[in-house]
Amino acid sequence: MNYRFSEIVDLIALQTLMENLWRASGLPVGILDIDGTVLVATGWQKICTDFHRRHPEALQRCRESDAFIFRYLEEGGSQGGRIEYLCKNGLVDVAVPIVIEGRHLATLFLGQFLYNSPDEGFFRSLAGHYSFDDQLYMEALRQVPIFSRERVREILGFYESFVHLLTRLGTEKLQRLETEKALSESEARLRLQNEQLRVSEEKYRLLFSAESDAIIIFDPETLEILEVNEAAVLMYGYSKEEFARLGLGEICEAEATAFAIGETVEGKPVRIPLTHYRRDGTDFPVEISHGSFELRGRRLCVGMIRDISERQRTMRMKDEMLSAVSHEIRTPLTAMIGFAEFLRDNEVERSQLRECLGIIAREGERLKELTDNLLDLQRLRAGFGTENFQPVDVLPLLKSVVLLFSKASEIHQLRLDCPNDLPPLWGDERQLYRALQNLLSNAIKYSPSGGSIQIGGRGDGDFLTLWIKDEGIGIPGEALGQIFDQFFRVSFQDGQRVGGTGLGLALVKAVAQTHRGRVWVESTVGEGSCFFLGIPVCSKP
Ligand code: ADP
Repeated sequence: MNYRFSEIVDLIALQTLMENLWRASGLPVGILDIDGTVLVATGWQKICTDFHRRHPEALQRCRESDAFIFRYLEEGGSQGGRIEYLCKNGLVDVAVPIVIEGRHLATLFLGQFLYNSPDEGFFRSLAGHYSFDDQLYMEALRQVPIFSRERVREILGFYESFVHLLTRLGTEKLQRLETEKALSESEARLRLQNEQLRVSEEKYRLLFSAESDAIIIFDPETLEILEVNEAAVLMYGYSKEEFARLGLGEICEAEATAFAIGETVEGKPVRIPLTHYRRDGTDFPVEISHGSFELRGRRLCVGMIRDISERQRTMRMKDEMLSAVSHEIRTPLTAMIGFAEFLRDNEVERSQLRECLGIIAREGERLKELTDNLLDLQRLRAGFGTENFQPVDVLPLLKSVVLLFSKASEIHQLRLDCPNDLPPLWGDERQLYRALQNLLSNAIKYSPSGGSIQIGGRGDGDFLTLWIKDEGIGIPGEALGQIFDQFFRVSFQDGQRVGGTGLGLALVKAVAQTHRGRVWVESTVGEGSCFFLGIPVCSKP
């Protein structure tokens, strides 16, 4: 510890004490810092202050004397040795090092004084040499106290005990200061560590509770569940308190879990698919990542559980869609190839030729519609589609869709119900046309017994609502929530198969979203369905 003497001793109290001692003993005394700074001084002699230290040559001698004493103390001072020295200006100094914890921190000076009556001849010659006023100089000399060696030894003995006391007090203070400093340093370190711990705990707590996967911390030996996050509560349907009373075996297959835990405790990261159980007894597929860690000497496991039902459903739907798309492509292709081969290999009449080419063209249209749906959907999903927005008049748009299907079926009657003073829409005419085309095509497709199909438009404040209403098979209530999902198709119980890919309504929804509008359906099984498309009107001048 690098303390200065002045930092560990009360200098004002010391100065008072030293002055009293000087008055009692008559022996001048001072304490100098290690770098020579005078900390305490009493009884300075006039001969020094008014003569020796004022004359350059005499001062030089004083300094040489001081330097000698300092050098001596520097070399041996820390061993506690003292020095008695006759200064070059003829006066006696005694210096005692003040050593604290092995370090020479200050020096106690006794002086100046004389052992015997001064050799007046010597001092007169000094006065002559330095050109001092002889009379005044000799007066100052006579004020220098004279002590016997015996008396100096006594006083020195007293001062040495005094220095010893100072040293002890200083050491104690030093130790106290060091202890306090170490204490406050370790307190600061502890505070910092606590803060860091708090921040990282907070971070993990946030991650823990904000994570959308369920996280379960459990004891791998007892299988006791110790902590769960909010996602686990939502996923399994147990409250946190209920979880605390559960064993892991109650929410998952014990055998597979035991295997996963075994691997985890051995330190291998595991990711396995399993079946887990909700509070209501239903099961669901999950994918789990396990890990283990040690907390206060106890090995614990953490499982991150992801519900993969949705992923599996999408995969299943994709597979179904792939086979549906293949089927949808294959059917028109087969017809087209069949008719083309027939025309190639046979002489046919003009009317028959027209009929065959008509079928080939219609099947080609079907193929085109399918690929258009796929491509449009992808484009809109990728965020494209607003580049060609402009005002779109509704009546001509609806008429063109009706015209497209006017010859499509003989058992359906298409009716247009739209006032001719509706404001224009703000949108992409081609996209809107494709959406209506899909809705009308569905209306025909899903009304196998025919019937009336209405295509209409009406104003709804800032929106225009376009609708297509059929008298077809309708949609079961439980399917209504998913009807606009990609690849979703209602499965018919009577085994009747209506071709399709589950892309048409997904495209209608994407078109509505691109137009900042919405799509919805009202339907009753056996009575028919009505699909609505709400699109903002044109607010541009
Ligand atoms: P696709 O018709 O190619 O199967 P869509 O996305 O157009 O695909 O329709 C999704 C599903 O919604 C259809 O499979 C069908 O079950 C149901 N659906 C669509 N429109 C109607 C409608 N007008 N009447 C009854 N069901 C419909």
